[in-house]
Amino acid sequence: MEKDIIIFSAPSGSGKTTILKHLFEKNPELFNFSISATSRPKRDNEIHGKDYYFLTEEEFRKKLANNEFLEWEEVYNGTLYGTLKSEIKRIRSNNKIIAFDVDVNGGINIKKLFGDSAVSVFVMPPSVEELRRRLEFRATDSPESIAKRIERSEMELTQSKYFDYTILNDNIDIAVEQAQNIIQTEFKQIFLND
Ligand code: 5GP
Repeated sequence: MEKDIIIFSAPSGSGKTTILKHLFEKNPELFNFSISATSRPKRDNEIHGKDYYFLTEEEFRKKLANNEFLEWEEVYNGTLYGTLKSEIKRIRSNNKIIAFDVDVNGGINIKKLFGDSAVSVFVMPPSVEELRRRLEFRATDSPESIAKRIERSEMELTQSKYFDYTILNDNIDIAVEQAQNIIQTEFKQIFLND
């Protein structure tokens, strides 16, 4: 089966989104990103319909009741994140890699749903201390939110074994190079058709 899906998962603050940004810049025509829905408040630098579909918790739960989600998770207490089925229809097109940036459980679930057509990648931070430092430096989350993210990371770090690949994000350039090698190996047909 030809592969057309890549899933990136990691504890929050591992640098997964930064790696994806670099990959996207290196290969501007290659990816279609799945845009998730969330009940989390929008950060100042985020755009509705680009970074996320920002929904109220009520709107999110209504869609859940209507069976509109492919997968969803309560990633942090009371904060819902999920992939809408309509999103897959929107982005499935020939010769593009569908990219998911989801939490660790979401990554495992999406890999199960798509099986051999998906490649899953776990982005590993150098240490929990470094994670904390990065989250504090990013300054987009409250101390309470940072504490929740750190607490959750302990569980998430044990899950890397369920992924096809693990990338250690100690040095961003090396991590991006490893991600680039993975896509070139796994999606040969897309590169050849490029
Ligand atoms: P953030 O609040 O920092 O944007 O994201 C928090 C976590 O939720 C990240 O690990 C992110 O990858 C994850 N996430 C974002 N969208 C989804 C989704 O659609 N499904 C799941 N399961 N997790 C998601």
